[in-house]
Amino acid sequence: MPRPHPDQRSDPARTGSLRHHSAGRLTAAPSPAPLVDRFGRVHTDLRVSLTDRCNLRCTYCMPAEGLGWLPRAEVLTDDEVVRLVRVAIQRLGITKVRLTGGEPLLRRGLPGLVARLSALDAAPELSLTTNGIGLARSAAALSEAGLNRVNLSLDTLRAERFAAITRRDRLTDVLDGLHAARAADLSPVKINAVPVRGVNDDEIADLAAFAVEHGYRMRFIESMPLDAQGAWDRDRMVTAEEILERLGERLDLVPVGRQDNAPAEEWRIAGTDAVVGVIASVTRPFCGSCDRVRLTADGQLRNCLFATEESDLRALLRGGADDAALEAAWRTSVGGKGPGHAINSPEFRRPERPMSAIGG
Ligand code: SAM
Ligand code: SF4
Repeated sequence: MPRPHPDQRSDPARTGSLRHHSAGRLTAAPSPAPLVDRFGRVHTDLRVSLTDRCNLRCTYCMPAEGLGWLPRAEVLTDDEVVRLVRVAIQRLGITKVRLTGGEPLLRRGLPGLVARLSALDAAPELSLTTNGIGLARSAAALSEAGLNRVNLSLDTLRAERFAAITRRDRLTDVLDGLHAARAADLSPVKINAVPVRGVNDDEIADLAAFAVEHGYRMRFIESMPLDAQGAWDRDRMVTAEEILERLGERLDLVPVGRQDNAPAEEWRIAGTDAVVGVIASVTRPFCGSCDRVRLTADGQLRNCLFATEESDLRALLRGGADDAALEAAWRTSVGGKGPGHAINSPEFRRPERPMSAIGG
């Protein structure tokens, strides 16, 4: 019989999954204690950044010349990622894991990593946030490896505008990736767009219509002060209210509300099953129901996208910490989570890392 991979050797007493009893019966092991903060928010959603590198240069995200990327030795290895995700799901009650970046498709051997994550006991729902470049080639392999869903970023349907926003002429690759995700059943495939005033805000209804026509779920995201250049300007942010106004000019919207603790507020397009979402982090913050925790590509745990402090799990891992020590560090970090991001307060301080280095 093959030996289990070290990542899969778990402590049955700590997991909430089904286990084979010695007599061959399946028994449910106790669930882990919830990962709860001092405001009672239970954390079940983990975002894992697999790289800070990217092959696009979206103007609202990073400068044309890119950024000083993390040295390879500082980036978590696949073994380290799998170990931390195992601790998260088996000891801390994480049930959803989203792989992101930077551009996660740039991570070498991604299908292999996905296969290892999806083979863990108590495997989480696994999703990917990507710009879609290269997805046409890898969607089938990712789906086969156990990836459940994809969110793909697409801010415009016009090739010239795409090149202006991302500083790369790759719209066709992205659209091919989008359709490949659907063909590989990585559904529901969601499209994320960040409207910026004077850049693509005239395409809000077109993007929604495109998504409806092809069976994708459209979501609009208010731009946030997380670009690397520090150029975010509130006046260029298109607010949820404006997004809804633009949509309402062409579509009849029926409010659906928010699913579980999801950040997107949703509307159904009357007469269809299609749903459009708006993530209004700035004008309608949802911090009170936040259930997320984030791991950067270099192994730093962040209890909030806007946190100004991180917990160094990589140092613990590489220093020989056991699972109990990793769990304790994780609980301490989440225990210290603040009530909210305070973007709208004069005391707001931008985090040192931009979105692309945190993992969006
Ligand atoms: N490269 C992948 C992508 O673009 O989907 C994953 C990483 S990217 C940082 C994740 C998401 O963050 C994308 O949907 C992107 O549009 C969004 N994003 C980047 N910078 C942003 C900003 N300043 N405000 C709001 N969203 C932003
Ligand atoms: Fe890259 Fe995503 Fe940032 Fe665009 S938003 S530059 S694709 S990390």
